[in-house]
Amino acid sequence: MSEYVSAAELFGENVFNDKVMQEKLPKKVYKELHKTIDDGKELDPMIAEVVAGAMKEWAIEKGATHYTHWFQPLTGFTAEKHDAFITAPSKDGSVQMEFSGKELIKGEPDASSFPSGGLRATFEARGYTAWDCTSPAFVRQDEGGAILCIPTAFCSYTGEALDQKTPLLRSMEAIQTQTLRLLRLMGNTTSKKVKPSVGVEQEYFIVDREKYLKRKDLIFTGRTLFGAMPPKGQELDDHYFGVIRPRIASFMRDVNEELWKLGVSAKTQHNEVAPAQHELAPIYAECNVAADHNQIIMETLKRVAEAHGLQCLLHEKPFAGVNGSGKHNNWSLTTDDGINLLDPGKTPHENIQFLLILTCILRAVDRHADLLRESAADVGNDHRLGANEAPPAIISVFLGEQLEDVLAQLISTGEATHSIKGGTLHTGVKTLPDFAKDATDRNRTSPFAFTGNKFEFRMVGSRDSVAECNVVINTIVAEAFSDACDVLEAADDVQMAVHDLIKQYASEHHRIVFNGNGYSQEWVEEAERRGLPNIKSMVEAIPALVTDKAIALFGKFGVFTEAELRSRVEIQYEGYAKALNIEARAMIDIASKHIIPAVLRFNRNLSDTVNTMKEAGVEVHVPLEMLRQSSRLLAAAKTSLTKLEEVTDKAAKMQPGQEQATYYYEVVSKAMEELRVPVDQLEMIVDKEEWPMPSYGDLLFEV
Ligand code: ADP
Ligand code: MG
Repeated sequence: MSEYVSAAELFGENVFNDKVMQEKLPKKVYKELHKTIDDGKELDPMIAEVVAGAMKEWAIEKGATHYTHWFQPLTGFTAEKHDAFITAPSKDGSVQMEFSGKELIKGEPDASSFPSGGLRATFEARGYTAWDCTSPAFVRQDEGGAILCIPTAFCSYTGEALDQKTPLLRSMEAIQTQTLRLLRLMGNTTSKKVKPSVGVEQEYFIVDREKYLKRKDLIFTGRTLFGAMPPKGQELDDHYFGVIRPRIASFMRDVNEELWKLGVSAKTQHNEVAPAQHELAPIYAECNVAADHNQIIMETLKRVAEAHGLQCLLHEKPFAGVNGSGKHNNWSLTTDDGINLLDPGKTPHENIQFLLILTCILRAVDRHADLLRESAADVGNDHRLGANEAPPAIISVFLGEQLEDVLAQLISTGEATHSIKGGTLHTGVKTLPDFAKDATDRNRTSPFAFTGNKFEFRMVGSRDSVAECNVVINTIVAEAFSDACDVLEAADDVQMAVHDLIKQYASEHHRIVFNGNGYSQEWVEEAERRGLPNIKSMVEAIPALVTDKAIALFGKFGVFTEAELRSRVEIQYEGYAKALNIEARAMIDIASKHIIPAVLRFNRNLSDTVNTMKEAGVEVHVPLEMLRQSSRLLAAAKTSLTKLEEVTDKAAKMQPGQEQATYYYEVVSKAMEELRVPVDQLEMIVDKEEWPMPSYGDLLFEV
C-alpha cells in the first residue's frame, strides 16, 4: 500500500480552480474572468489570452504535453482530440510550447462523424467546441501521459446544439430567470442568482477482467446476452451494504484518490443490492459541473478498474435476473446567498413560498411526465424501467406523510393549519440514545421522490448522461414558475393570489402524487384510472420530444428549437436500432461459432458414452435421456437462431427512423429472447468444461 495522503491534500490538485486562478492570474484578469463565469458577460479575447497562458504553464507543471476540448456529443460518450502544446519548429529546429486564447476559447473538431440527426449535412462538416468557463479545466494523468482537459459545448456552424451541455446551460439560464422572478414577487430582494444543485448517485458492477475478456457479449454490448442464473442470486440481500472485499476496497481507494485530485468530491461508497454491484456518490454541485463530474466518475471507474485487473460494467442491465444499475439524480434549487428553495423548514404548512414552489413542481411533473420519462429512455434502461425493480415506468411523485397531509388540508379547506411532527425514535435499549425522527419515512419505489430538501429522480440509466433529465427538470419547472408569475404579476392582491394558486395547483395535479408501492400491479391499474402515462419502452418514449406541447415549451425558454428536437429524435431512433443490431449480431455470432459447436462436442461425448456402455452391456438410460434433452434444446436453439438471422437482416435493410426502431423493439428483441431460452437451459446441462464462456456464477461471485 502506498503512503497515506489525506483527501484534503489531494483535493483539486489537478484542477484549474478558483484558488489556482487567484494565484496565477493578474488581479484584473481574474476579476474580468469572473464577470464571465458569474454573470455570463462576453469574454474579452485579451483576457482569454492571459488565462490561456496561465493555464498552459500550470498544466505543463503537472506534466501535460497536450490539451483537448472535452465535450459530450450525442454518442453517449465524451469526446476529445489531443493537440500538443508545440509551435511549428523554427529555423534552428527548436519548438516553443504554445497555447493561445483562441485555442482555449474555440475548437474545430471535424464534426462530420458525430451524430447530428440531419442538422448538419456532411458537406457542412463544421462544428465548434466553445469553452465553458463555468466548469473548471483539469489535467488528467494516466498511463498515456497527462492531458489538459477543457470542458466545452459543441455546436454546429449555425449554432445548433450538437451535444448535452449546450441545452443544459440554456435550461439553467431559463430556470434562473423564472425563479428570480418568482422570488421577487415573494418579497425576496437579495438573492441575485439561482442554480440547480445536483448530486448523482452512480451504480456500477465490477467483474474480473480476465473473465470479462472471455465474454464477447460483454465486450461488444456491455451486457450478457446469454447466461443461466447461478444457484445463488441476490435473494439473501447479503451484498447490500455488506463488507467491501479487499480487492474492491483497494480499487475504490484509487478511484477516490483520482477523483479527489480532479476536484470531484467522492463521498459515499457501498455495496449495492446485486452481487458485484456497488455505488459511488459525490457531494452535490452546480448542475452543469455535476453533469461533467458524473462523466469524469464513469471514465475514472473504467480506467482504474482496468489498472486493477477488473472491469467496470456501466450497462443498465449487465445480468438478467439480478438488479440492474441506474443513477439517482438529486435536484434542488440554491440561491447565491445560500438558500435551498426546496427546504420546507420544520413547519411546512407555514412556509408559503415553499408550498408555491412545491405545487409548481407537481404541476410541472404532471404536465410533462412524458418528457421526464423520455429523458431516462436509453437502450439499456428498457430492461430496467417497469421490470419490477427500481423504479416503475410510470412517473409519479412521492411526497411523504407530512407533505401529503399539508396538501390534503390545502385541497379540502384551502388552508393548511398544522404539520405532522416526526416524534422520537425509541430504540428500547437503555444504552442507545433516543433521537428525533424524520417526519417522513423513505420510499424506495418512487421515480420522483421528495427526500427532505430535494427531489430525487431515480429513473436515469447508469450509463446515461444526467444532462438530459436536468434539461427537462429545469425547463418544466421554469415553465411552471413562469406561468405562476404571469398570474401573480396580474393580481391586485399578490398574497391572496399566491394562496389561491397553491390550492388550485394542489387540487389540479394531485393525481401525480403517489406514496404507495410503485412496484405493485395495483399501482399500474390505479395510475391508468388517474390517466397517468405508462410508457414502457424507449421507442414509445421518444415521440414525447416533438409533441406540440414539448416544442412550445422548449421554444419558449430557448432550450431547443424545433429543428434541434427533431434531430434528437432521429438520433435516438438510430442509436436504438444500431445498438440492437449489434446485440443481435453478437448473439448470432456467439451462438453459431461458440455455443452450438460446444453443445455438439458435448453430444458427441454423450453418444460415445452411450455406445461404450451398451457394448459393456450396461443400462444406458441416464446418458441417453441427457442426450435426448440436449438434442431437443439444440434443435430449438438452431430454429430460433435462424429466425433471429432473418429478422435482423430484414431490420438492417430498413430506412433509419421510427419504423425501423420499432421493428427492432417488437420483432428483433423478441427473437433474441427466444434464442436465449434454450441456450440458457443448455448451459445448465452441458459440462462446465465444455461451455465456451464464464458463467454468471464465475462473474458475479468470483471477483
Ligand atoms: P440518500 O439518497 O442515500 O439518502 P444522500 O442524502 O446522502 O443519499 O444524498 C444523495 C445525493 O444527494 C448526494 O450526492 C448528496 O450530495 C445529494 N444531495 C444532498 N442534498 C442535496 C440538495 N439539497 N440538492 C441536491 N443534491 C443533494
Ligand atoms: Mg438515493
